[in-house]
Amino acid sequence: MIRIPQVKVNISEIYQKNIDTCKDRTSWERLYQKEEALLLRKKICKLLRCKPGEIQDFCIVKRSIDARKKKEIFYTYSVDVALGTEKEKRICSKIKNKVCQIKKKLVYQVPMQGQALLSNPPVIVGFGPAGMFCALMLAKAGYCPLVLEQGKKVEDRVKDVENFWKTGKLEPWSNVQFGEGGAGTFSDGKLNCSVKDTTGRIRKVLELFVEHGAPAEILYQQKPHIGTDALCKIVKNIRTHIEELGGIVTFESKVTDLKYNAAGALQAVQVNGQDWISTQVAVFAIGHSARDTFACMQAHGLQMEQKPFAVGVRVEHPQKKINQHQYGDMAKVLPPADYKVTYHTQKDRSVFSFCMCPGGFVVNASSEAGGMVVNGMSNHDRGEENANSAMVVNVLPEDFGSEDVLAGVAFQRKWEALAYQEGKGKIPVQLWKDFKEKKQSTRYGDLQPVHRGENEFGNLWNCLPTFVSEALLEGIAALDGKIPGFADPDVILSGVETRTSSPVRILRDETLQSNKAGIYPCGEGAGYAGGITSAAVDGIKIFEAIYSKYQSKKEKVEYE
Ligand SMILES: Cc1cc2nc3c(=O)[nH]c(=O)nc-3n(C[C@H](O)[C@H](O)[C@H](O)COP(=O)(O)OP(=O)(O)OC[C@H]3O[C@@H](n4cnc5c(N)ncnc54)[C@H](O)[C@@H]3O)c2cc1C
Repeated sequence: MIRIPQVKVNISEIYQKNIDTCKDRTSWERLYQKEEALLLRKKICKLLRCKPGEIQDFCIVKRSIDARKKKEIFYTYSVDVALGTEKEKRICSKIKNKVCQIKKKLVYQVPMQGQALLSNPPVIVGFGPAGMFCALMLAKAGYCPLVLEQGKKVEDRVKDVENFWKTGKLEPWSNVQFGEGGAGTFSDGKLNCSVKDTTGRIRKVLELFVEHGAPAEILYQQKPHIGTDALCKIVKNIRTHIEELGGIVTFESKVTDLKYNAAGALQAVQVNGQDWISTQVAVFAIGHSARDTFACMQAHGLQMEQKPFAVGVRVEHPQKKINQHQYGDMAKVLPPADYKVTYHTQKDRSVFSFCMCPGGFVVNASSEAGGMVVNGMSNHDRGEENANSAMVVNVLPEDFGSEDVLAGVAFQRKWEALAYQEGKGKIPVQLWKDFKEKKQSTRYGDLQPVHRGENEFGNLWNCLPTFVSEALLEGIAALDGKIPGFADPDVILSGVETRTSSPVRILRDETLQSNKAGIYPCGEGAGYAGGITSAAVDGIKIFEAIYSKYQSKKEKVEYE
């Protein structure tokens, strides 16, 4: 197969030719879908100097939008072309353009299976992306894993979250952070991952998402996303599949304690402060908000260390303005645009956008009574009026003010409690023009908030560390130079965004076990991932660690 990167299609040209018929995104996508394969085949023939009939097959490996020049926007492709081995060799040797290369398909491989015996099924603590993909791979390999999730199954969780946003009544274990699918369920469902896929694990994660109902285009989009509405169905499909393969997924089952044998290896986990479940293997994929479980692990002497993260606010802008800035004339036919901005302050702090949600909602993502946390989410169509992203500032362990390994948790809790007070239990909001004056807003301007959860005017300087507020003041103003309107007076800020990643790392050795044998720290909470895809990839890494040590019970396996 020949891999051809950088195949560029000038979509501005096509749009201009069809401007009378392309009135919106749907009509553009309908038109382009019809033309895409033909256009690519022509490009491939030109690049490889071959005839259309010689192409046995081709597939899109990656597609991205290159909108650096607004008048000349391109779709940039990476394609794999099959022409037959001999012909591929001849063509690649003939054409001097070294970008075209014979490429072997990157296929995910499981390691050699171990022979040690497991007397009980492996236990997965937490059913977020990390726990979910670890459990799915173990189930496919015949290990019949037992999943213990403290939250509720997605159908009930959705009701609890909707009710919370309407009434403010928080369910401590069933909310935006906790429950089936983990923190990733109520999200924008962005699946981009900055890590280069050298093992095929990232591709495997995307393929498994598609196998359980995600749209196929996530396999080749540069910035794939699913959206909350679709994610809710997908996590349920993954649960059902694990159960069909002999696994057990239990909800409202919180691991509250651990027991070791004389050798100091794991012997059992306790659920809900009552029953003990015997196991030699427990994967702790507990997420960045599992503060009580962090404390339980600290008490059990698991080695952990403080970890930096970032704190800030959510900012909202009119999505139309972002689209116009990013795509110019094609703004009305291309998907809602995103942005990624960074700024370095004079006081040596980084201010950067995080988890940007085009056409999404700012959500009340709190998980503790008396604490206020915001985040962002969107549905698959990203059809809301506003663009939002977290604008955050890096926070270092030396900012925590204590050596205690969980001082980062205390740091988050402090500002979340102040935000709760500032908003009187609702999301505290402030317009940019008033943030600059450190004064509370009294009414909205041209922009209305698009929120899930009630909000209340407040002064965000009262619930953010001063170094964060000062950095935001300098950073947001400066970024107006990069995206005109970024610092418009009516831009809406909501607080506080504190759960950008885990405040701790649970140490693990080369076998991916903690200092307590049998305990596998996994995913974002353990400090080894940031985002849905990288958490799922870490879940697969832990699957491989267990697979290469222990044999599974079942002959028939399904992970091919
Ligand atoms: C609103 C929101 C939007 C987001 N948007 C995106 C996005 O668009 N793209 C992206 O890549 N990332 C996004 N993220 C981040 C992403 O969700 C996380 O990085 C990812 O979910 C981490 O996966 P995880 O499996 O490590 O942990 P989590 O998803 O946090 O799952 C951990 C699970 O463990 C359970 N648990 C904890 N302790 C226990 C215990 N003692 N016993 C039993 N169960 C326990 C929790 O209830 C939870 O369900 C978003 C996060 C939020 C909150």
